[in-house]
Amino acid sequence: MAHDLQPVRGTRDLIGDDARRHFHVVDVARRIAATYGFDEWSTPIFEQTGVFARGLGDTSDVVMKEMYTFPDRGGESLTLRPEATAGICRALVSNGLTQSLPQKVFYTGPMFRYERPQKGRYRQFHQIDIEVLGSGEPLADAEVIACGWAILKALDVAKDVVLELNTLGDPESRAAYRTALITYFSAYKDQLSEDSQARLDRNPLRVVDSKDPGDKALVANAPTIHPYLNAASAKFYDDLRRHLDRIGVPVVENPRIVRGLDYYSHTAFEFVTSALGAQGTVLGGGRYDGLVEEMGGPHTPCVGWAAGVERLAMLLDAAPAAPKGVAVIPVGDAAEAVALDVVQALRDAGIRAEMGYRGTVKRRMERANRTGARAAIILGEAEIARGVAQLKDLETGDQAEVAIADLVSKLA
Ligand code: ATP
Ligand code: MG
Repeated sequence: MAHDLQPVRGTRDLIGDDARRHFHVVDVARRIAATYGFDEWSTPIFEQTGVFARGLGDTSDVVMKEMYTFPDRGGESLTLRPEATAGICRALVSNGLTQSLPQKVFYTGPMFRYERPQKGRYRQFHQIDIEVLGSGEPLADAEVIACGWAILKALDVAKDVVLELNTLGDPESRAAYRTALITYFSAYKDQLSEDSQARLDRNPLRVVDSKDPGDKALVANAPTIHPYLNAASAKFYDDLRRHLDRIGVPVVENPRIVRGLDYYSHTAFEFVTSALGAQGTVLGGGRYDGLVEEMGGPHTPCVGWAAGVERLAMLLDAAPAAPKGVAVIPVGDAAEAVALDVVQALRDAGIRAEMGYRGTVKRRMERANRTGARAAIILGEAEIARGVAQLKDLETGDQAEVAIADLVSKLA
């Protein structure tokens, strides 16, 4: 089959600095999430299409335009997951965990969306993801947001990022808000974009979300949800802000953050940056009390977020330094066996060490310098006979004779 050895459009290879940035983000997120009591799950990369596309009500761009959906050889419609949450909720139900709540899940892995590739927007990208499944308490929302903020701080990117927060209220509050939005936008119907006109009656919250510049001008003066919150929804939002204040997470309220789908409620938030151009949202999340039920499980209130690893990796000031190892260099074939013992002893002690597979001493030294080794151990036959080696510090250039038995303790 013809191919040109290029990666598929919108996908990338992670090698060298790119890989170090990427895995640094994932490692830090995993470590911080663990301190907040989250356990890591992994679910399949593909699911039955119905896990993501749930009937005619779902008008989100992801489901309508962006999914990689294909029939498998048995004729079943499968979809490469565009996000983690639906698979996690499916797994909660499949594994009978709806009786053991709450579940606190950390997730990371590749996601797939058929989008126009550009900086910070790919067709295979990666997310880190936090979900609390089975709690309707605002403390859960606060914990989930605080964990995201802690990860951004640990990555040293919090200085470039702002938490924007809103509430969508409960279904009763949202119904009142919908009516108010329809009334407001109907007065300007002929000025709205075609998309927004089509959405107005069915889903006016999506008009608030519109990226069209003309719509945005109208949205700026549209009513916010706050006057339409019933007492319970207003209290939920107040409690959340009080918890966030107590934890010390700075908040900017943004009433324009909405979600168009019915299963969302209460909290909606984004962590945004101006450092990445148009792709300014690094992390997005909120409460989705209706999703598990909509998928066919029991009513299970949930809250969570997902962040793009690529966007966070771009925000890092610098790539983490490449690890520095020790190069073990035998001089001549007879020294190789002892060199093998030395490299093994270093590795057993947890020290990164390598012995080249072949080559002259000069070549091996060149490689040690090129790969950024911190030290070289040079093992000549005459020295081996005396139980010693040359230890060269490649940062200072200092060289000294060291007993082979002392090498591990010297380099630890
Ligand atoms: P956007 O408005 O940028 O399309 P979104 O609302 O589709 O984002 P979510 O579904 O909330 O994004 O996903 C959470 C995070 O995943 C985003 O904030 C972003 O950091 C990242 N993300 C989403 N789509 C992509 C993509 N195609 N490439 C890289 N990262 C992405
Ligand atoms: Mg998108």
